[in-house]
Amino acid sequence: MAGMESDPVVAVELFHEDVDRAAAEVAALHGGRIRCERGCADCCVDGLTVLTVEAELIRRHHGDLLRTADPYPLGACVFLDRDGACRIYPHRPYVCRTQGLPLSWVEETGGGQLVEMRDICPLNEAGGPPVEELPEDACWRIGPWEGRLARLQYAFAGRLERVRLRDLFRPDGEVEVLPCRDC
Ligand code: SF4
Repeated sequence: MAGMESDPVVAVELFHEDVDRAAAEVAALHGGRIRCERGCADCCVDGLTVLTVEAELIRRHHGDLLRTADPYPLGACVFLDRDGACRIYPHRPYVCRTQGLPLSWVEETGGGQLVEMRDICPLNEAGGPPVEELPEDACWRIGPWEGRLARLQYAFAGRLERVRLRDLFRPDGEVEVLPCRDC
């Protein structure tokens, strides 16, 4: 379990392994519907931010890349390569590990009511029932997983804060830390 590891950055790696195992179990419920594969980079958009504990994980494992390689040009994720593959794939952030799955999360309405929301990548929409009709355990439930990651972030920095992936390539090392209320 990620919580047993005292270094929060190493604990995030273990957390990612748990995410991968659980995501594979959810994907297996959908047969061929989930068509995510190397080279499909539709969800690798520009402007992604990550919690600083995940940024530190990327720095630890990909220092050479950050120092010597060029960032992908504006318009897509800075870590893409020219073939549409991720250059930090084993250490990509949590958010990149579940994107093609049917997603489920809870939002508060104006009246303070909690409402479950669902979504799926348009490329995986066909080949199964509408996401609204799926049983709960056939969806990736974002809240509990983000809660686990938030606890690791608190252990790392004492607060929720994010940085832009693109900023990690800055040669001066200057990274703007963004406060976040709902992350
Ligand atoms: S970190 Fe990798 S998987 Fe995540 S958006 Fe960037 S290129 Fe895609």
